Amino acid sequence: MSTFRSQAISQTYGRKPVHVEELDRKSVIFGSNVFNSKSMRQFLTPDAYKAVQSAIQHGAKIDRKVAEYIAMGMKEWALSKGVTHYTHWFQPLTGATAEKHDAFFETSFDGSDPIEKFGGTQLVQQEPDASSFPNGGIRNTFEARGYTAWDPTSPAFIFGTTLCIPTVFVSYTGEALDFKAPLLRALAAVDDAATAVCQYFDKNVKKVSATLGWEQEYFLVDSALAASRPDLTLTGRTLIGHSSAKGQQLDDHYFGSIPTRILNFMRDLENECMLLGIPVKTRHNEVAPNQFELAPIFEEANLAVDHNSLIMDVMQKVGERHNFKVLLHEKPFAGINGSGKHNNWSMSTDTGVNLLGPGKTPMSNLQFLTFFINTIKAVYKNEQLLRASIATASNDHRLGANEAPPAIISVFIGQQLTKVLEDLESVSNGKLSPEEKTDLKLNVVGKIPDVLLDNTDRNRTSPFAFTGNKFEFRAVGSSANCANAMTVLNAIVAKQLKDFKKEVDSLIEGKEMKKDDAIFNVLREYIKETKNIRFEGDGYSDEWAEEAAKRGLSNHKTTPQALKAKVSESALALFEELNVMNHVEVEARYEIELEEYAKKIQIEGRVLADIARNHVVPTAIRYQNVLIENVKGLKDIFGNNFEIIAKEQINIIKEISSHISTINAKSEEMTEARKKANALTSTEEMANVYCDEVKPYFDVIRYHCDKLENLVDDEIWPLTKYRELLFTR
Ligand code: ADP
Ligand code: MG
Repeated sequence: MSTFRSQAISQTYGRKPVHVEELDRKSVIFGSNVFNSKSMRQFLTPDAYKAVQSAIQHGAKIDRKVAEYIAMGMKEWALSKGVTHYTHWFQPLTGATAEKHDAFFETSFDGSDPIEKFGGTQLVQQEPDASSFPNGGIRNTFEARGYTAWDPTSPAFIFGTTLCIPTVFVSYTGEALDFKAPLLRALAAVDDAATAVCQYFDKNVKKVSATLGWEQEYFLVDSALAASRPDLTLTGRTLIGHSSAKGQQLDDHYFGSIPTRILNFMRDLENECMLLGIPVKTRHNEVAPNQFELAPIFEEANLAVDHNSLIMDVMQKVGERHNFKVLLHEKPFAGINGSGKHNNWSMSTDTGVNLLGPGKTPMSNLQFLTFFINTIKAVYKNEQLLRASIATASNDHRLGANEAPPAIISVFIGQQLTKVLEDLESVSNGKLSPEEKTDLKLNVVGKIPDVLLDNTDRNRTSPFAFTGNKFEFRAVGSSANCANAMTVLNAIVAKQLKDFKKEVDSLIEGKEMKKDDAIFNVLREYIKETKNIRFEGDGYSDEWAEEAAKRGLSNHKTTPQALKAKVSESALALFEELNVMNHVEVEARYEIELEEYAKKIQIEGRVLADIARNHVVPTAIRYQNVLIENVKGLKDIFGNNFEIIAKEQINIIKEISSHISTINAKSEEMTEARKKANALTSTEEMANVYCDEVKPYFDVIRYHCDKLENLVDDEIWPLTKYRELLFTR
């Protein structure tokens, strides 16, 4: 008797590592499929080249005529590389990237004169027929027009035989319909605010760029095995499955030797990344079996976000070549670690200074402390908004479950910096005496070591940790587009820096304080005010949950709860003040995210009921029938004594019946709860009912399915088991 599972398993037996062509050295091939400044210099006229560079560096507008020349050069470059199609590449609010390919090829009306054509208009703007992207009510179907517009700050690239042009996606009325547009606005806001604050320390600073280095965790599962699981195929995670006897208990996978099949996948992926100019650097095994991580060198945040979106797509494609399905879900398997995407974040000046890196002089350290403390205050004031920025149905399995990190946002800074902040708390009110200043410069600010990297403890339980020269936002989900988190983080820091500047200026002007005195005074108050957000202990402990509640920190364990902060009055005002999003855009996003949440739970509920009733229950009955036959046989042979001999079989028969009846009853109740949710017209209420009344059935139904998996003859069990999914490589 051959199940789908056994067929899938036998397919994996003959798997050999797929050969990967050696390309040239990384430094030689890096960016060769990117329209970067080297290829621009080669293919653009000097004027066109200058226009693009100035758009990248100063956000200058590119006029139509120049765009025409740029398009021509870009096309020549692409054709020289065998490209046939182009696409505007964008990031709609579905979470995936979107592309619609058009051929360069054109003919005249009568079909003559075939040529390759690509003009300025096609480069700058397109109108994808995009009525079915999520828009949260911004675009009614009668005006279902949105357009994509070229983002020259992220270079065009070639994937396969297609030229991809990074774009924003906006409605005709100007509202953002994607992840990139608000991100670009938030980055502009933080640039303005941070540059203004930098002026206190260095007049030469003209631009500040946020930097992002993401670390992407993922699982690899053999594609035949993944295809044998309807839950993995449809929801990206396993909805049932008894845990494997061996999981991650032995800690023998983390940083272990990388299996050859997997290493070849990684090498192939790295080759693609090099061609695409994605500076990947690190690869290793993660904690859970078949879990891995990849990290690049950090980049300017917009580019880094594009590169992460791109790599999530490329990973799947490379995975196919190696017969792997790449699981980016935050929690594909119960009982072992889930996946996250640490967002390492900092700000960097056009003079080459990392604003979150301690400096060598007291003055540069004061600048460091200014940005450091302002970031802490931004997080303190907006912890709920930050939590909302990472809220999704799949990330709920990490935040708020027994998983890293907790749903409570706190900031970890390490012992040394805690001491520095404590010392700064006692700075005098008002003007500082020369003695005090000298003391501060020598003994407090001056004592911050220029290399903190080795000194900041590695508290892995903190969702927002300072790690020597950057903050690491660890609560971002592995499948998320980092733009959401980055938009919020950069916006709240921008707002905070603006407020800081106002306060310092008013002390300088109103109280005739010196600049340093004013800065010390404001920072002192910030340190006192924001103590509650700082936490150095174990973020997973129950004590912390209690303590955090006393401190008034939020602990939103579910997405519908967490998302509310997004549309709070203060959040709407903040986004509007910075021109990051107007209230229509924010409210639309809130609506879209709630709807996505409800739909995800809806799909999971349907898939679970389907698996339980069409796979698990029929299999259990078949096995039960085998047992019944056996009991009948025993009765034939042993007559009245059969009950003693068949005792265990009879118990299992009863147990199976009891599990089946609970599965059926609970599946029906869950369907009723879904019906109730679906009948609601308010998305908010619908998401709440899915969260509070539908989702709780998942664990109950799963429990009984997993018990059956453990009872039923392995030979006939139809669903590929955890041990097979996790240890085939
Ligand atoms: P881990 O957290 O796994 O121990 P690291 O702390 O070394 O690893 O984090 C490395 C990540 O931090 C890399 O992706 C790197 O590019 C990024 N990173 C380093 N410096 C910065 C910075 N100034 N801004 C943003 N990201 C940075
Ligand atoms: Mg990290």
